[in-house]
Order: sequence, then structure tokens, then C-alpha cells
Amino acid sequence: MEVITLQSGSSGNCVFVRSGETCLLFDAGISGVKAQSRLAEYGYDIRDCCGLVLSHEHSDHICGVGAFHRKFGVPVYATMRTWNATRVKPATGHINGAKHFVAGEAFQIGSLRVETLRTPHDAIDGVCFVIEDTDSRQRFGLLTDLGHVFNGLRDIISTLDAVLIESNYDEVMLREGPYPQHLKNRISGKGGHISNEDAAELLDSCDPQRLQWACLGHLSAHNNCPEVAMATHRQRHTNRFPLFCADRDGSTQLPRIESKAFAFHAASIDSRLPVETPCNVAMSRSI
Ligand SMILES: [Zn+2]
Ligand SMILES: [Zn+2]
Repeated sequence: MEVITLQSGSSGNCVFVRSGETCLLFDAGISGVKAQSRLAEYGYDIRDCCGLVLSHEHSDHICGVGAFHRKFGVPVYATMRTWNATRVKPATGHINGAKHFVAGEAFQIGSLRVETLRTPHDAIDGVCFVIEDTDSRQRFGLLTDLGHVFNGLRDIISTLDAVLIESNYDEVMLREGPYPQHLKNRISGKGGHISNEDAAELLDSCDPQRLQWACLGHLSAHNNCPEVAMATHRQRHTNRFPLFCADRDGSTQLPRIESKAFAFHAASIDSRLPVETPCNVAMSRSI
């Protein structure tokens, strides 16, 4: 499975996930032109994406949805309530319908199964995602706009092969930063975002046996910076798994997620093999 963040941060979010012939986009928080040109740098045509899945209606996730759909013909997937909140925004323009899923349920597009998890973020019907390749069983978590570290998140991360996790703000930078108090309260409140410290503690508390990498995402432009976020995480979970930080203004190509059979092989070499790891998974699929 391949993951490229076309942008990840408070000013715009869009993530490309591919497995075999199935290419999906998650959120459209950048312009259609940017998404098209950034994907083209990796040899992909945005018109080949068979779905644009929306997490929630905040503008840093939906401002490009009209262009993605009208200009490039990408079908839109959203919950009914998120879609109703999205389609009335002037930036969306006219769209001939969207396909609907139910928050908390899973659906299939091509070879990818999209599990949706309700979040306590302050959106109308927000979700985050686990994307699973139904052939190889590789699982990627796209966990941003979380509100707070809600029940079950830890257990879900322990089932993942790779994760992009929100690490939105540094607590000191937010507290001492330029935002008005009501906005500081919103960001750090139960319906806002999770901090570097929250995310680092969360990753540290998870079972990392299966995790091939973690990527920090949705960093605030004003209350965080990659160096501070990475330092906070490294203090917490040094060398437990490779750690990356998604670009707030451009794209980031992440390491290809390998099959569990490969992970099994690697684990067996350095004696970190979990007892329940299946050892008979075919290694034929490289993506
Ligand atoms: Zn949001
Ligand atoms: Zn957001």
C-alpha cells in the first residue's frame, strides 16, 4: 500500500492512498490544481482516483471538493450530514450528488476497505479512517481531527501497519501564542485537536509490534513546528518505530507499507515475533 500526503496541516489536508489499481483521496483541503500537480510529481493522474472520501466539513478538508469532482470527475463519498453541511458552502459549488456512508461503518472501494470511526471533533458528523487492503490485509490509519484521545483509539492503533496521526499543537506554543483565548480553548478542548504531548503519549502506549512507521500530521501553522513535534515524540518513544512528519505546505511520500509476511520475516530476524502473527501469508503482493 502506498501513502502520499499531498498536504497535511491546519491550512489544508489531502491524502492519497493506493493499492494496486485502486487510488483514493481522503479530504480535499487544497485546490484541485495543487492536488493534480502534486500527484503528477509521483506519476499519478488525479482522474484515476476512484473516490474522494471526506472526513468532515471543515474548510481545511473540503475547500477543493468542487474542483476535484467537476474538473477531474472524482466521485465524492461522505456521510449524509457531512455532505449536507459541505454542499451548502459557496466554495463547493454545484455537485451532482455524493455517495453516502454511515459514520462508524465500513465500506469498500475497489480493493480498499474504508473503516470509519466517529470522532468527538467539533464537526457535524466527523470521522477518521482505517484503510485496509482486503487482499494483503495491510492496514493504514488516517487519524486526524480527533477532538481528544477517545476510548478505543489506542486499541485501533495496535492493529495498524502504519499510521498518520494528528499532532496539532505544542501546549506551550498554543498557551503563549497569538490566538484569542476562545480559540485556544477550542483547540485544546474536547472537540478540538490533540497536542504533540497527547499524540506522543498515545503512540508510546500502543503495542508497536505491527507498526512499520508513524507520521505526524495536521500540524498547526501557528502553534507548532515539525522540529518541536518530532522532539516531543522522540523523547517519548525513541526508536520504537520510524517516525516522519508530513509537510504542512507540500507533499510527503511515505515508505511503502509492506505485507505482513514481510513484517513477519523482519520481526523473526530480530526476535520480536508476536506469537499470534500469521506466518503463512503470501508475500507475492508487493503493494
Ligand atoms: Zn476539523
Ligand atoms: Zn482539520
